[in-house]
Amino acid sequence: MNTSPTLTTLACPRCQQSTTWQNNPSRPFCSERCKLIDLGAWANEDYAIPVEPTPNDFLTEEDE
Ligand SMILES: [Zn+2]
Repeated sequence: MNTSPTLTTLACPRCQQSTTWQNNPSRPFCSERCKLIDLGAWANEDYAIPVEPTPNDFLTEEDE
């Protein structure tokens, strides 16, 4: 049981955006996008994401 009310924050190693460790399935990255980029999955400019999006992804998705 984690009783600490403070979220652990960290900077995304890909875009340096501040993100949280908790509730972040893409940690240590800020998003699935950054994780895929860092893994080289985006070598092609097409959105050839080899994973299926989860409902949780839509909650954190932001248009840029
Ligand atoms: Zn990022």
